[in-house]
Amino acid sequence: MSDTLRIGLVLPDVMGTYGDGGNALVLRQRLRMRGYDAEIIDITLADPVPDSFDIYTLGGAEDSAQRLATRHLQKYPGLQQAAAKGAPVLAICAAIQVLGNWYETSSGEKVDGVGLFDVTTSPQATRAIGEVTTSPVMDGLKAPLTGFENHRGGTLLGADAAPLAKVTRGVGNGVGDGTEGVVQGSVIGTYLHGPALARNPELADLLIARALGIPATDLAPLDLPVVDRLRRERLRA
Ligand code: GLN
Repeated sequence: MSDTLRIGLVLPDVMGTYGDGGNALVLRQRLRMRGYDAEIIDITLADPVPDSFDIYTLGGAEDSAQRLATRHLQKYPGLQQAAAKGAPVLAICAAIQVLGNWYETSSGEKVDGVGLFDVTTSPQATRAIGEVTTSPVMDGLKAPLTGFENHRGGTLLGADAAPLAKVTRGVGNGVGDGTEGVVQGSVIGTYLHGPALARNPELADLLIARALGIPATDLAPLDLPVVDRLRRERLRA
């Protein structure tokens, strides 16, 4: 790790439809408030994907945009190399599908994915839109996770993929098993927009602690009443 933590915002030009770039802002802000230097580096379709960054985030997208992203990540496998070295990666919504084994678009086209998640995604009868609340099952998370979902794809987890959480309200992965999100190695996926890390600071700190190579309990607590208020509102909504 260099002195400045580098947060790679992966393909915001095509995977930036739902404001998930805010996750990179949250990571940078929570690092800076604790005295760490941190910067966000956009990795666009014009760039190869570096494998040396400290954290990576990918956002959601429409079907056509996610197809462009899939091709780019297959051509430049820096993200796969970084994940193999244990770099934390956060993948939102369409990014779960892109990082999976394959996904089928709403028009019925089957697209090979990047293979970082042992999951497959197929369109469901109805689009899932609305608030989601979940109870985490991943080690290191205790607080309910909240977010907003908007997807037609339903994601089935294979043997190598574990769920991030169990749905208590909303749809989540959407194939009837009550799960939400995916965890495989250092890569975490969720259908939660919001952006997810603004609404779920515990998840933000889990990624930060992993990037720093320290236990999350060693991170200085941050007193941010606005974040607590947002969480209370969303849990009530
Ligand atoms: N296009 C995908 C779907 O509808 C993902 C949408 C999203 O990223 N919000 O399933």
